[in-house]
Amino acid sequence: AEVLRADGLAKTYAEGKLRTPVFDGLHLDVAAGETVAIVGASGAGKSTLLHLLGGLDTPTAGEVYVAGQKMSALSDAARGALRNRALGFIYQFHHLLPEFTALENVMLPVLLNGTTVPDASSRAKSLLEAVGLGHRLEHKPGELSGGERQRAAVARALVNRPACVLGDEPTGNLDEKTAATVFELMLELNRAERTSLVMVTHDRRLARRLDRVLELHEGRLRELPADEV
Ligand code: ADP
Ligand code: ADP
Repeated sequence: AEVLRADGLAKTYAEGKLRTPVFDGLHLDVAAGETVAIVGASGAGKSTLLHLLGGLDTPTAGEVYVAGQKMSALSDAARGALRNRALGFIYQFHHLLPEFTALENVMLPVLLNGTTVPDASSRAKSLLEAVGLGHRLEHKPGELSGGERQRAAVARALVNRPACVLGDEPTGNLDEKTAATVFELMLELNRAERTSLVMVTHDRRLARRLDRVLELHEGRLRELPADEV
C-alpha cells in the first residue's frame, strides 16, 4: 500500500507571476519503505510539492493521502496529529528548539502522541544513540556542531516511527564530507525502520543512492532513468 499519494495535485499562488500554476495535475505514489529523490531546477516547485505532501500548505486542486487518509477531509487537529504520527520532517536548517536539550528535542514528538515520559525518553535515547549522539543527550543545539545538530534532526524525524520522512535538502547546509556521513546515516536508519523517504536535493550523487529519482520540470514529474541521474 502507498504511504503517501498525490492525486491530481495543483498549486497556484495568489501573488505568483501572472498567477500561472507551479504545477497542475501532478501524481505521485510512494510505496512503503521506498526512497524517492525529487530533483529539478530552482523555482521548479520542489519545496511547494514537499509542503503540500506534508500538509503544511493546501493544494489549489487535487488530493494528498498520508497513510491512506485524505488530508483535506481531516480537521486541523486531526491533520496535525496525523502529521506528527505518520510523517517526519528534516529541513536544511535543523529547527531544533534552542532552549531544550537534544534529548528533550527528540522526545517532544513522542510526548505529543500521548506517550508517557519514560517511554518517550527511552525511545528518544535509543535513536540518539543510533545517530551517534549518545554522549550528547544533555547538550543544547547551540552546544552541538552542525553535523551533530543535523543528526539530532534525523533522530527527531524518525522517533515516532513515521510511515514517511520528508526531507528538503536535509544535508544542504553541511560541508561535503559531513553531508555524506549524515546522508548515509539517514538512509541506513530509514531502511532499518522501514520508513519511506521523499527527499528534495540538487545533489545528483545523493539522489542516485535512492530507489527512484523524479525530476520536476515545467509542472511535471518525470522518472529519470539511472543513466540520466
Ligand atoms: P523550488 O523549491 O523548486 O526552488 P519553489 O516551490 O520554491 O521551487 O517555487 C516554485 C514557484 O513558486 C517559484 O516560481 C516561486 O517563485 C513561486 N512561489 C513559491 N512560494 C511562493 C509564495 N509563497 N508566494 C508566491 N509564489 C511563490
Ligand atoms: P565542529 O568542529 O564539528 O564545528 P565544534 O568545534 O563546534 O564542532 O564542537 C566540537 C565539539 O564540542 C562538538 O562535538 C560539540 O558537541 C562540543 N561543544 C561545542 N560547543 C560546546 C559547548 N558550548 N558546550 C558543550 N559542548 C560543546
